[in-house]
Amino acid sequence: MIEFRQVTKRYDSDHTALRQVNFALNRGELAFLTGHSGAGKSTLLKLLMVMERPSAGEVWVGGQLLNSLPRRQIPYIRRHIGVVFQNHQLLFDRTVFDNVAMPLQVIGVAPGDIGRRVRAALDKVGLLSKEKMNPLQLSGGEQQRVGIARAVVNKPPVLLADEPTGNLDPELSADIMNLFGQFSQVGVTVLIASHDITLINDMNRRTLRLDQGQLVADGRPRTEANRG
Ligand code: ADP
Ligand code: ADP
Repeated sequence: MIEFRQVTKRYDSDHTALRQVNFALNRGELAFLTGHSGAGKSTLLKLLMVMERPSAGEVWVGGQLLNSLPRRQIPYIRRHIGVVFQNHQLLFDRTVFDNVAMPLQVIGVAPGDIGRRVRAALDKVGLLSKEKMNPLQLSGGEQQRVGIARAVVNKPPVLLADEPTGNLDPELSADIMNLFGQFSQVGVTVLIASHDITLINDMNRRTLRLDQGQLVADGRPRTEANRG
């Protein structure tokens, strides 16, 4: 579903953000992406969202080579990629329902279908009863769940998350991780950028670790070979 083949990204001649990165994630696979600040995590996510293009190598999503994708096709690719942000980027001038409905309105889903699809997404994150509230009335963990509902309302085959638990305490972080696990179980490919080492070790899922743009580990953190 996602594949990087020898991907290098240079922003300028002496600034290599990613160096010859290789990995593949299958349908329904869940993995973490970790590394220190500046390691290249955001760059890797931006290549998947086609916000940046690789300097060398190939980036594939859902059988499509993104390198040479014409600009006009970028919006179509983005419909297949749900994105969850640390600060969730909710709009506080409208209800929970309307926040989750936004991606559907953008792509012109018939109004009659919007209600059903928004409620299905809110149900998946356990917030069906809060659709009429303003996100300001919700806790931090609930706000992040609204962000996740909005990311999945299009039923994207790929879900990317950039530090999704950055502002949450450990218990709420674990809840959010369980939600991502549920999406992967129904076939969504999930990639979660995080530098929360405790959380990553607790989850013990596949972890891609970047160091100065190089992929230096790819495996479960509690496996001996990937320590250090
Ligand atoms: P992370 O998300 O792991 O903190 P980034 O992908 O943001 O890492 O950054 C990787 C490297 O690329 C860093 O050295 C950073 O300064 C550099 N970088 C990121 N974005 C740009 C940009 N738009 N222009 C130039 N350099 C950049
Ligand atoms: P531009 O077309 O002006 O270069 P960007 O590519 O930076 O704009 O994207 C515009 C905004 O949409 C950014 O805030 C970006 O993070 C967000 N974005 C990009 N891809 C997605 C996606 N698949 N789902 C949700 N938001 C996205």
